[in-house]
Amino acid sequence: MSQIPLSQPDITDREIDAVVATLRSGRLSIGPEQEAFENTVARASGRTEGVAVSSGTAGLHAVLLALGVGPGDEVITTPFSFIASANCILMAGATPVFVDICPKSLNMDPARTEAAITSKTKAIIAVEVFGNTTHMLELERIAQRHEVALIEDCCEALGGVSASGRRVGSFGRVGVFAFYPNKQITTGEGGLIVTDDQALADRCRSLRNQGRETNAHAGGDHAAGSWLAHGRLGYNYRMSEINAALGNVQMQRLPEMLAARRRVAGDYMRQLMDCDDVVLPTVEADTDATMSWFVFVVRLGADYGRVERDRIIEGMKRHEIGASNYFPCIHLQPFYQERFGFKKSAFPIAERISERTLALPFYNRLDEKSVELICSTLKLMIDRERLLKR
Ligand SMILES: *Cc1c(COP(=O)(O)O)cnc(C)c1O
Repeated sequence: MSQIPLSQPDITDREIDAVVATLRSGRLSIGPEQEAFENTVARASGRTEGVAVSSGTAGLHAVLLALGVGPGDEVITTPFSFIASANCILMAGATPVFVDICPKSLNMDPARTEAAITSKTKAIIAVEVFGNTTHMLELERIAQRHEVALIEDCCEALGGVSASGRRVGSFGRVGVFAFYPNKQITTGEGGLIVTDDQALADRCRSLRNQGRETNAHAGGDHAAGSWLAHGRLGYNYRMSEINAALGNVQMQRLPEMLAARRRVAGDYMRQLMDCDDVVLPTVEADTDATMSWFVFVVRLGADYGRVERDRIIEGMKRHEIGASNYFPCIHLQPFYQERFGFKKSAFPIAERISERTLALPFYNRLDEKSVELICSTLKLMIDRERLLKR
């Protein structure tokens, strides 16, 4: 066990009490907690419809199916993300088309995205990597111009606001949040789809609930609306009341938690500002007041590579400090390479950045002293690499 872990959920007695109360209520699935959670997250992102699901991945999969994306269709996305943002395309039977990223924001490059659109393109999945909202407005316009659906993978950006004033979750046709324990808020496991399109939301509700038609109430064994009538191939992607109860308290605490994360990010910035070999994360606006911090990922300077980066991560771990290589490029994961024949240098910007990035410990209760210790250890490891270079 690392003494300073990479991440840690922020659970108080309020969450524990809410979960216990739900257990005592006898209602463990499809109930008031889910409904309240859906409304709260939808409202927080400026949307009218919310559909709670069992994970962010399940949400992305359901959204693609609900949009009619399937075999023969192409979906454009980024190679620099958590693998789920591309895996969902494979799950739907469609073909992922990767485009290289912008070296500053680390989000997919709008010009490259537009150039990649073909007659087969059905959707764009745009990820707000590490909570950064840059290019979302531009990507939305590109999607509109070419009449393809923009899906906002906002799994890493809950509660953020873009420089254009738009709330995270409000871009494109539909957005998907995730609540795994390392995200801004957690439900243990969980996800949530947000949209203004009621028909699309209803299709997602049906897909998450074994293909049941949720908005009809006729009688008869196979009549839509009866519990054992299944109108389409569906899944069990439901979120339990226990998870939703946890999420409801976490949503109430969201402003407080985002402020804590902003404080930790500020501590890191101050500690690492003078370190020439470390590139700090950029935020979209002049001020980071509206940035929802997900992780704290720095990148080593241009004269570093994977070997040095990995040695630094190992060194941090030896000092009992959690660190990780966020993210390895998706197209270079062995099963993507095998299936699609991706070669090294296919997406040179993403690859060169991916081999030099490292995530540092980041969670609400990380105090300034610990940040100081983490940064001095990082600097020590970098100094050692400098000596080795000479
Ligand atoms: C966390 C995450 C997801 C999905 O997460 P689950 O673990 O399935 O809840 C999807 N995309 C991105 C970019 C993520 O960070």
